[in-house]
Amino acid sequence: MRLVLSVVFAILIIALLVCMFFAKKSKKPIGNAVSFVLAGLIIPVLGNLILIATSDKTYATSGCYIYFLGMDIAVYSIWHFTLVYCKMGKPKTILRVLIAVLLGADFTQYILNPIFHFTFSIEKILVENRPYFRLVPYTGQTFHRIVCYGLFVSILIVFAVKTIKSSYVYREKYAVMFFSILATGAVETYYIFSRHPMDTSMIGFGLFGLLVYFFSLHYRPMKLLDRMLAGMASEMPDALFFFDENGKCIWANEPGRELIGVSKDNYDNIKDNLKYLFGDDIDFNSSGWYKRVTLGTGDETQYTHLAMRSTVDEKGHVTGSYLSIRDITEEQHEIKREMYRSTHDSLTDFYTKEYLYENISNRLQSDHETDYMVAYIEISNLKVVNDVFGKNFSDLTIKDIAKFIQRNVTDKCLYGRLSMDSFGVLIDKSNFNEEGLAKRLENYTVKDENLEHHILIHIGIYDITPEDEIDVSLFFDSARLATTMISNNYQDLIVYYDDKLRNEIIHNQLISNQVKNAIETRQIRPYLQPIVDSRGMLAGAEALVRWIHPEEGFMNPGKFIPVFERNGLIASVDKHVWRCACEILANWKERGINSFISINISPKDFYYMDVIATLKSLVEEFGIDPIKLRVEITETVMMNDSVDILKTVDDLRAYGFVVEMDDFGSGFSSLNLLKDMNIDVVKIDMQFLKDSERNMKAGIIIKNIINMAEDLGIDTLTEGVETAKQFEKLYAMGCKLYQGYYFSKPVPVEDFEKQWFD
Ligand code: C2E
Ligand code: CA
Ligand code: CA
Repeated sequence: MRLVLSVVFAILIIALLVCMFFAKKSKKPIGNAVSFVLAGLIIPVLGNLILIATSDKTYATSGCYIYFLGMDIAVYSIWHFTLVYCKMGKPKTILRVLIAVLLGADFTQYILNPIFHFTFSIEKILVENRPYFRLVPYTGQTFHRIVCYGLFVSILIVFAVKTIKSSYVYREKYAVMFFSILATGAVETYYIFSRHPMDTSMIGFGLFGLLVYFFSLHYRPMKLLDRMLAGMASEMPDALFFFDENGKCIWANEPGRELIGVSKDNYDNIKDNLKYLFGDDIDFNSSGWYKRVTLGTGDETQYTHLAMRSTVDEKGHVTGSYLSIRDITEEQHEIKREMYRSTHDSLTDFYTKEYLYENISNRLQSDHETDYMVAYIEISNLKVVNDVFGKNFSDLTIKDIAKFIQRNVTDKCLYGRLSMDSFGVLIDKSNFNEEGLAKRLENYTVKDENLEHHILIHIGIYDITPEDEIDVSLFFDSARLATTMISNNYQDLIVYYDDKLRNEIIHNQLISNQVKNAIETRQIRPYLQPIVDSRGMLAGAEALVRWIHPEEGFMNPGKFIPVFERNGLIASVDKHVWRCACEILANWKERGINSFISINISPKDFYYMDVIATLKSLVEEFGIDPIKLRVEITETVMMNDSVDILKTVDDLRAYGFVVEMDDFGSGFSSLNLLKDMNIDVVKIDMQFLKDSERNMKAGIIIKNIINMAEDLGIDTLTEGVETAKQFEKLYAMGCKLYQGYYFSKPVPVEDFEKQWFD
């Protein structure tokens, strides 16, 4: 028996130690108080263990001391735990002092017992034929009992009051403590008064420690949980219906009752009502399903989400089920709005590029009857409109064109906005009227209250053939490529991507790749065409670029300049030609030749380089007089509002260059330009001259231009003079300089020099 008890105590101590360890580690605030209780309890249990196990008097005596001193600590720790467990806050100072004094006094009397012997001694008896040392209490022991019982009783009272006063969901937690302390106390009392030789009451203490551990740190009050869950269920915005295991509705929360229109205790018709509302196929006998049901139509449409789940008890047995119904209308609307936002352009309400591609792709896959093509519609001068007239006007332009597209498409078309300045349309071929469209595009203008501006629209078309693999983005890429081939801004607004265009694009790519090398090896170089005065004497020459291509042979600038103007390579070509011109001038200067050379400046040069700085540095590098380098700027550049050309011209002239206005009369020229612009020479376009043969008016205009220029102090040069008759006529009109096949075609520099200087 003693052995068994010893083992039981040892196990208890280990269990208490383990719990103490976990309580200490616990993150709950009460963890410390619990581990203190467990530590406090381990000491008397240990004392008791020694007492039971030993047959040696000294050991037994020390066991007793451990037991009694431990008891004081244990009682104190339980008192401390009670305060925390019951959330009593810090006790009054007087109470703390009282308890400290009482326990301290008790503690001291044990310490002093070996000297004064007035608390206890031990006597030897035989238990199971072995000596066992039993306690013999003296007066001091009574004090000990009063203190311990006093504290125990007060702790009991605290738990009793808490049990009675707290709400029923918490009652369990206090009642458990109350009864276990009561039981422990009862066992202890029994031991004390029965004088049973062996003290087993410590088992009760040990168990109490384990209960403290469990209830403080691991116990979840189920009643509390139930109550909370029920509260939550009633307050949920979702409608909830609970069914017992037989499928009978036992409870519905407020939103549920409202939805069905039933009173609180009348759940009889709920199932029928639910079926009436959400459809007969609602299955109340199974759970784990969910479905969406749409109620009503139009603006009144309500979207709901139904879910049926089962409830189970701790053992996993189904105890019933519940149906939750959530109104997801707002959610659904938000999803739809989000959908719309992500698939539609905010400015025009058109499809976005991705959404358009997706729609076109679907259409092409499903409709094999209709012949389709895609159109890439680009607002060619939107950037200029934006820069010059501001964002509002450019937004207006985009919206205006969106409306234009809507007006011009048929039901079968699909359209969207592809980028800042481009739209895409899937066109039903049989309903496409190219001529009509081109006409409407020709003079497309956008107006607001103050402004009216011509908008340049280019359209590239890719014709989809049945053999084509459906790749919408490729179709649009091709259509876009077609627009890049529109070189003359004011004609050919609609261009088709076809084999010819494709080859052209490939060819352009090829020659673009060769430019750098062609410049280095001087395959690209200027020819010179003489410019003569009215006596037929050489005045100067125009440098006109040529490409003597190893495979393609002789290439006129018309074949490559427009390509390089589009991709920016023009800047390198022009720089090279200008450099060659300067080289020639430097050479002429050495030879004492006085003629000038005119060079051409492309409108695009202004985008890709600082034209003035480049020219200055060339002139300085070759040490030539800038007056010998004439600069030809076309009339269209002069009219372009995006380049501050007036200032450029002034700067060029200030440095000493002679500025010529090229191709005068070819575009929408206005005579006013002559007045506004400080130029030195106006080059009258040869087309004008040709017209003057047939058209009397053109002749009169040339005469007037010459006269007006003369009045303004501007020299006139006519290009394209092919016959003696033309020359004579111009001479009679007072023209100063002449250029044309009549005098010479553009020729290689050596030929030119041979002809004129040798
Ligand atoms: P442009 O500046 O108006 O040059 C005059 C063009 O008319 C030259 O064509 C010349 O060969 C041609 N031409 C001269 N006299 C006659 C004639 O009596 N009858 C006819 N039918 N044509 C005549 P080209 O050399 O083919 O140059 C075409 C255009 O290419 C030039 O027009 C110019 O705009 C551009 N260009 C030529 N060289 C360069 C260059 O180095 N840089 C840049 N940016 N453009 C250049
Ligand atoms: Ca020219
Ligand atoms: Ca010209």
